[in-house]
Amino acid sequence: MTMNYSFLIPSLLILVLIMGYYFFRPRLPIRLNRSFLAILTIDICTEIFEAISSRLHETCSEHAPWLLWLFGVLFFFFYFSRAYMFFVFTISILDARGISRSRLHVFTPVVYYFCALLALTSPFTGWLFRVENGYQKGPVYFLFYVCCIAYILFSQLAAIRHRKELTTHEFISISAIQAILLVGIVVRALVPNWLVMNTFCLMAIIVIFLSFLNPDLYMSERGYVYNLPAFQALVSECVRRRRPCRILAFALQNYNEHREIFGGAQMDEALVAINRYLADSFRQMSPFYLRNGFYALVGQNLPDLDVLRDSISLRFASQWKTSNGELRMTVAFVEADTEILDCPADRLVNALFLSLDELGRASDADSSRSLTDSIEQITERLEIRRCLEHALDHDELEVFLQPIVDTVSGKRIAAEALVRLRDGQGKIIRPDLFITLAEREGYIARLGEQVLSKVCRFIHDHDMDAMGVRWINVNLSPLQFMSRDIPDRFTAILRQYGVSTDRIHLEITEQSMIDFSLMRDQIMDLHSSGFEFALDDYGSGYSNLTRVRRYPFTNIKIDMEVVRNYYRDRDPLLPALIQAFKKMKFTITAEGIETADMAEAVKEIGCDYLQGYYFSRPVPMPEFAAM
Ligand code: C2E
Ligand code: MG
Ligand code: MG
Repeated sequence: MTMNYSFLIPSLLILVLIMGYYFFRPRLPIRLNRSFLAILTIDICTEIFEAISSRLHETCSEHAPWLLWLFGVLFFFFYFSRAYMFFVFTISILDARGISRSRLHVFTPVVYYFCALLALTSPFTGWLFRVENGYQKGPVYFLFYVCCIAYILFSQLAAIRHRKELTTHEFISISAIQAILLVGIVVRALVPNWLVMNTFCLMAIIVIFLSFLNPDLYMSERGYVYNLPAFQALVSECVRRRRPCRILAFALQNYNEHREIFGGAQMDEALVAINRYLADSFRQMSPFYLRNGFYALVGQNLPDLDVLRDSISLRFASQWKTSNGELRMTVAFVEADTEILDCPADRLVNALFLSLDELGRASDADSSRSLTDSIEQITERLEIRRCLEHALDHDELEVFLQPIVDTVSGKRIAAEALVRLRDGQGKIIRPDLFITLAEREGYIARLGEQVLSKVCRFIHDHDMDAMGVRWINVNLSPLQFMSRDIPDRFTAILRQYGVSTDRIHLEITEQSMIDFSLMRDQIMDLHSSGFEFALDDYGSGYSNLTRVRRYPFTNIKIDMEVVRNYYRDRDPLLPALIQAFKKMKFTITAEGIETADMAEAVKEIGCDYLQGYYFSRPVPMPEFAAM
């Protein structure tokens, strides 16, 4: 049988080219890169040994049998290793995405060990192949195909199992690699003397290279240093494999302001210069540009972090040249050591960003902080999120009511609904902690609706007039106006409990009164369905009278800090302001009344309603009803 080398030799040449390119470009020290290098090396060896053994087979009469045995064994050994390595590569993609290993991975190497052992012992057993007038198939030669197909299946199963954690692109790429290898093995079985399997392996390698290893995927767009995905991959690998890894991150302070002042183009030039400085000066480490003027250096055996920090500070003490002039920036540092920190990688990266955000906005140059505090903060935030999700899913948010007292009658006339969340031990989490989190992470609409439903249920279940409560104030976050259908949803909730809209007043804080038309439209809609509006925390933000008049408020709640200041200094501004508001037909509520004197003081200057601990703290609904 004569062999056809016209597929094998070009494949080999292209492989050598890819190998050269791989070494020429920067590589991240992660397993994904190492297993790619292993595939390349093993594939090149397999092809070389296949070429040699095929040639020996063709010209067997001219060679001693031991030579055929030697290259036969080498070929089979590398051939099985290659099949296994393609599978290992799939696993390292999952690794790089931080996906934990499943039981599948523990048993999978067994097939490889078994086949490799068969290959190595072939000269003694002759099970896989024999040397008799060239190469002859042994009784278990079918394993040649079984091994490959098994690893193709294992890879595909692993990808399917973790389908959700992979991007569509990654999943398709992994599947394409398996499909190419499968076609290769089938063609090889049909026409063994074409030596065509190698071309299919090359195709698979090219897909790997383009989809997962193209250095451009990992390099910062401004060159020289790696990007954020690369940083996440490296840190998550270090954390998972408990490989010591030290991080020195720094923030260019007031980066956004610099960008505004100097313009994007000049700032970009400066960033390129910084990238190049980092890449040239710290060769034993991996430098990263994360985002927003944040950098990180990562290394296993970093030199003393203090020395490193000093040298960076020193460089930043002088300017960065750009084509338009010179730019000077200050930096602040965060240090981390994954070994000491012992926390999941994503939390570590989040904590790092939290610290860098804070330092970047501060102006004390060369300051530094350790990551431990931020990790605690992030951990606390995660715990709050867990409790919030649980409470939202199980309808377990609590609503407390705080009475609002009428100054004329001295009796309660209304109440404010204040949401409460409990942690695992039943302790109350402060609303300012979880409200901002709910706003940031998209839970606020559900939170607001749950509060409104509970308030409506309370109104439905109780005789409000007998309690002397005419309405209940419900707080609204401006982010709730982001969904267009809030008027419909609110009226639907009220209808469900048979509550009329004049029983509910909606509070919006002054700080959130940004002039955006979506919010105004929806406030107008809600107002026309009968809801009344109160302006909360007046005096805590940039108070603006014209803006107040553009919205249909009927009541203004004076912020407790303003009330406190008035009580202390008796500044005539507040009485004058209240008079002005009253002329404009607003009613006035004073918040944060803690003593009888305070109540008297604000009553004198014309407040209509009072709210505060002096009358009652916010209490659970049943307690409020029993008051
Ligand atoms: P807010 O709407 O200004 O509510 C008044 C806050 O002052 C409440 O804090 C109340 O417990 C507190 N307070 C009342 N009287 C006194 C007093 O005499 N002295 C002092 N020191 N404090 C007093 P709380 O319940 O911690 O709520 C904080 C903020 O969280 C609220 O401020 C409101 O903006 C927000 N919030 C509460 N519930 C909700 C809700 O259901 N939805 C939304 N979007 N925000 C809510
Ligand atoms: Mg309020
Ligand atoms: Mg308030």
